[in-house]
Amino acid sequence: MKRRIERLKTKLPEQVALVAVTKTHPINQIMEAYEAGLRDFGENKVQEMIEKQPQLPADVRWHLIGHLQTNKVKYIAPFVHLIHSIDSLKILAEINKQAAKNERVIDCLLQIYIAAEETKFGLSPEEALQLLESEKVQKMKNVRICGLMGMATFTDNQEQVKSEFKTLKKFFNHLKSNRFSKEDSFNILSMGMSGDYLLAIEEGSTMVRIGTAIFGLR
Ligand SMILES: *Cc1c(COP(=O)(O)O)cnc(C)c1O
Repeated sequence: MKRRIERLKTKLPEQVALVAVTKTHPINQIMEAYEAGLRDFGENKVQEMIEKQPQLPADVRWHLIGHLQTNKVKYIAPFVHLIHSIDSLKILAEINKQAAKNERVIDCLLQIYIAAEETKFGLSPEEALQLLESEKVQKMKNVRICGLMGMATFTDNQEQVKSEFKTLKKFFNHLKSNRFSKEDSFNILSMGMSGDYLLAIEEGSTMVRIGTAIFGLR
């Protein structure tokens, strides 16, 4: 695995962060990735994250990358590093509330719907704008919107994937120069997985989420 991680790292520009997606993989495998130097780990389910978190070193940064239900936020609020999957005002409000209880600010990304598939969660750019404009969101003191996350369509059609990433990058730039021009913290564009991370980086990704290319097939 160490070799795989090293080879992968040579393909990532310095400014692109690597989140190792550990879902379904056992602790010993994750520890191997930790020992190879990785510190950012992504899980898509709360239950799995809270089972693994106490078994790994405390300096691991935990990323929640899957759909999050309001009744589960309280379990990850004490420690989660970045939530990639904000898809409603309701979930953001609950994160704000639980973050306040833990006396912390939780960094979040808005998940934007870019794929042609029906099943992907996320906000349309219009919904994202609406959410950002809402007074409720502007009053939230314990969440910080740090950027966007998106998943491209699962397809061999590179042109389609490329154009979806381009759309997301364009929207990211729009928000950065219009809504977040005074906030340096709006700087994360989470896009790219094992099958499409090179394309995503070409299109301006700053954070890739990679499982299979590190741990093998699930
Ligand atoms: C599983 C998952 C990944 C990683 O997928 P791989 O193809 O194994 O690299 C990335 N992002 C999200 C949201 C996922 O659920």
